[in-house]
Amino acid sequence: MSVDHRTTHCLVCGPRPAHRPRLGGLLRRCDGCGFTWTTQEQAEEDGRYDEDYFAAGGYDDYFRSAPRRFEAGRRLRWLLSTVRPTTLLEAGCAGGYFLEAAHHAGITATGIEVSHAAATFARDHLNMPVHQGYFETVAPTLTADTICAFHVLEHVEDPRAFLHAAHTTLTPGGWLALEVPNIASAAAHRLGVTWPGLQPRYHRWHFTPGSLARLVTDAGFEVVRQDTAVFRYYMPLGYRLRHARHLLPADLIGLRSPRLTHPRRGDLLRVIARVARTGRST
Ligand SMILES: [Zn+2]
Repeated sequence: MSVDHRTTHCLVCGPRPAHRPRLGGLLRRCDGCGFTWTTQEQAEEDGRYDEDYFAAGGYDDYFRSAPRRFEAGRRLRWLLSTVRPTTLLEAGCAGGYFLEAAHHAGITATGIEVSHAAATFARDHLNMPVHQGYFETVAPTLTADTICAFHVLEHVEDPRAFLHAAHTTLTPGGWLALEVPNIASAAAHRLGVTWPGLQPRYHRWHFTPGSLARLVTDAGFEVVRQDTAVFRYYMPLGYRLRHARHLLPADLIGLRSPRLTHPRRGDLLRVIARVARTGRST
């Protein structure tokens, strides 16, 4: 039986800093780094990431192609502004739309997905190569110069083990691109338990810009780029316009800017990191 990190210490800092309850005890937050974790045990039953998960609130359109392709295109543009991948591995590739976008850009892209339903969709409908299973087990049997994980790290059993597996899998100087919800966002502070990025039933870990950068650096990466985006960033323009009346004022208050990205205060935290050269032979 493994030790339950969720109640004993901060995953980033270790046992020393104090941590205290937030949102009525639903979460605990480290005084040292702001890293936050869900205190409840997550359901561990098989298949929790199958149809029910992808049909739950916010995921109801998971396999609808137009919004997924829009999101995939934005993520790929963001990645390509810093990285030129040749072989890309995506952890938690869901229905495979990001793999498809990467494939169309001439990248050899492979997915790893724990959900049997999502992996099957990616293979059968988008014709993408996907291994069904856990990244930590499957990835080290493969090789890649770029690993992407969008909204994966907040779900995994042990983020350090995940990052170690990514480091082991990457070629020297390889790249890691992550996106997670930002618990330090303006909207998370304002909305508390109703913030859509919280999802305590599924999210064990809640990152801040500082705590994510530290975890990634501790795992042997150098952070090359980090910023945040608001939820609207991934909404197609028509949707953004239709919902502008309530989305736009909230973001303007939160970020004090009409932009969709911000260095720290947006809802979604993005990092591009590179395998550090320190300590590697040649
Ligand atoms: Zn901490």
